[in-house]
Amino acid sequence: MRTTLVPAAVGTPELRELRAEVRAFLQESIANGVFVPKADSWQSSINTDFSRMLGERGWIGMTIPKEYGGHGRSALERFVVTEELLAHGAPVAAHWIADRQMAASILSHGTEEQKQKYLPGIARGERYFGIGMSEPDSGSDLASVRTRATRDGTRWRISGTKLWMTSAHVATNMIVLVRTDEGERHQGLSQFVVDLPNPGIQINPIITVDGEHHFNEVVFDDAILEADALLGERGAGWRQVTGELANERSGPERLLSPFPLLAEWAKNVDADDAPATLELGRLFSRVMMLRQMSLGVARKLAAGQQPALEAALVKDLGTTFEGDLVETVRRMAMTEPLSGTTAYDKLLADGIRHSPAFTLRGGTNEVLRSIIAKGL
Ligand SMILES: Cc1cc2nc3c(=O)[nH]c(=O)nc-3n(C[C@H](O)[C@H](O)[C@H](O)COP(=O)(O)OP(=O)(O)OC[C@H]3O[C@@H](n4cnc5c(N)ncnc54)[C@H](O)[C@@H]3O)c2cc1C
Repeated sequence: MRTTLVPAAVGTPELRELRAEVRAFLQESIANGVFVPKADSWQSSINTDFSRMLGERGWIGMTIPKEYGGHGRSALERFVVTEELLAHGAPVAAHWIADRQMAASILSHGTEEQKQKYLPGIARGERYFGIGMSEPDSGSDLASVRTRATRDGTRWRISGTKLWMTSAHVATNMIVLVRTDEGERHQGLSQFVVDLPNPGIQINPIITVDGEHHFNEVVFDDAILEADALLGERGAGWRQVTGELANERSGPERLLSPFPLLAEWAKNVDADDAPATLELGRLFSRVMMLRQMSLGVARKLAAGQQPALEAALVKDLGTTFEGDLVETVRRMAMTEPLSGTTAYDKLLADGIRHSPAFTLRGGTNEVLRSIIAKGL
């Protein structure tokens, strides 16, 4: 059996044309060996040449206005491109965070100079961002961050440690949440855009169980930033960060990380194999339902709303589905993926190794459920 994420006939004629164009480009790239599809590619598959290729095609920074080097396209068009990249397991990790949330944050909170400085490079697929929120002893309880920025004349000096920073080792920039002022937990926090490299910042690799380097510990030792590195309002960091989280939590990557595994497995499912076709149907109907929810949040974001509760709901259900997908395929497949060599074995091995992270990154599901419960 063969499965694609969305039948080619779905959507308006313009969206169908865009999907067909992206799909053809990705299939050709796979056929030409430009990349090998990976599960969870948005987290772990870094290929800066490929990011630039997407930038040249106008598939990064799609919703950034044209005056800042973007393409002025709709959130739905971006959604279609994002889905296809994920479904094909394309190497998009380098630019993912910049495209997903930093462009939107800089557009909302940045000065005119910051917009001119950062947005064109994001749209070209040349500026990559790390997110510096978590710290040792400060993950779910994000407001307890201890990294501190102090004013020194016109500059800022930052000291502290950020943990689990994805892709910091290839980043050209990072955005950090730090304490600038005293006050109640959610007050006195501010965000800074940091240009890299910076002599006061050390990036130390953290190697994961798959032997790969996705994460980093980032140590700020009296790192000096100019006054114009402050993003938005001093002391409004908490409000800004929570606005950003709706972008971070609701996109197709919260349900499609292991989709290439499902597509590869489906190729080998015999239409007469009732248990396998039943499981395939179950998984596929869930992904379609979640897709509608994720689209609903994308529409709200495009309308200028802040659907934090809805985004938490999509992420809880979507990442639970992702784990179920990997587990179902593992159970049905009867193979030993960790030592296997086929494309399918490798996708399954990646899925198994990465699935514990699905419900942790971007806020754990327990914490999301408490946001949902409080919101309802
Ligand atoms: C793949 C991956 C990529 C990541 N990338 C980044 C990144 O780029 N930048 C960044 O800043 N961070 C990143 N993180 C860190 C991530 O945001 C944190 O792991 C997450 O917020 C949880 O924090 P913690 O690990 O400190 O766990 P803890 O907060 O210590 O939680 C441990 C357990 O306790 C539970 N728990 C905690 N508080 C509560 C509560 N109030 N109610 C109920 N249960 C609770 C949690 O659900 C969890 O099961 C990444 C993590 C992963 C796995």
